[in-house]
Amino acid sequence: MNQVDYLRISLIDRCNFRCQYCMPEGTDLEYVLRQQLLTFEELLTLIQEVFIPVGFTRFRLTGGEPLLRPRVVELVQAIASLPQTQDLAMTTNGFLLAGMAQDLYDAGLRRINISLDSLDSDTFESIIGNRGRSRWQQVWDGIVAAHSVGFDPLKLNVVVIPGVNDDEILDLAALTIDRQWHVRFIEFMPIGNSHLFGDRGWIPSEELRQRIRDTFGLTESKVRGNGPADVFQIPGAKGTLGFISQMSECFCDRCNRMRLSADGWLRPCLLNESNQIDLKTALRTGVDTAELRKQVRQLLAMKPEINFKQRESGTTGAYSRTMSQIGG
Ligand code: SAM
Repeated sequence: MNQVDYLRISLIDRCNFRCQYCMPEGTDLEYVLRQQLLTFEELLTLIQEVFIPVGFTRFRLTGGEPLLRPRVVELVQAIASLPQTQDLAMTTNGFLLAGMAQDLYDAGLRRINISLDSLDSDTFESIIGNRGRSRWQQVWDGIVAAHSVGFDPLKLNVVVIPGVNDDEILDLAALTIDRQWHVRFIEFMPIGNSHLFGDRGWIPSEELRQRIRDTFGLTESKVRGNGPADVFQIPGAKGTLGFISQMSECFCDRCNRMRLSADGWLRPCLLNESNQIDLKTALRTGVDTAELRKQVRQLLAMKPEINFKQRESGTTGAYSRTMSQIGG
């Protein structure tokens, strides 16, 4: 087993997009009430007094859309300035990024993943839930701003949905040729979207790699990430291509992470909802942080047994939380 030292922190369950694979239209999303969100102070208490002492040193801020969280820049600064923080990253849809990139960088954020599922504005709008005005350009401006401010690595996340954006794989991969950007292709997962998923399923990463190989060539990259991506490169390209294949391959034994929801639930496995701990209620009812450390240590010890291991059954299990609530 890998050491589990990476925590994905969802700052808010709301999003300014309604991506069809993540928060499908018609889904009754029950947003967490503001008073149920972990406060700024609660979150920092948990990070400093529970997570860091049990071995977490790398953090990713996600959502919903993390840039919608009030005081997000301050929070970045607070986490980045902790001496034990070895890595702080963010996953965002990029819509508000152009105006915030410099402040986030100055606050200490260095790594950013921006979701970009299409280079075609019409396809993009249909994926994110068109609300009558184009948003693609503003996201692209956010990506360009993050690049010029100096975010490195800058990664673009692409969820590949058959019949929706899989015809753009080559164009998206080609972004890495002249730019030091890293494109990550993610297999579509059946969480909160069984209708869309049930119709179309996912495309195995190896099939995507073959398409890219046939056109550009593809070599295994010398750059090895810490995460679940298998990293490749178009020969001579400045950036890399990563493939996150949680549906076609099981990488539970490489899993190095847990997830904290915006309302304070600690989740040991993305695809298994058992054994979660409600840290917010514990904090608010006066359970001391020494007891919480004990509970989180126990959960860490149990994680190998909890990790989901039945991908081969092509699961479309019913999950009670959507990806927007879990944080991806
Ligand atoms: N709002 C931010 C964004 O758009 O990146 C952060 C939250 S989003 C839930 C985090 C990541 O989860 C995104 O890269 C998104 O594409 C991915 N994601 C959401 N639903 C997914 C699904 N059903 N299968 C695979 N990836 C998914």
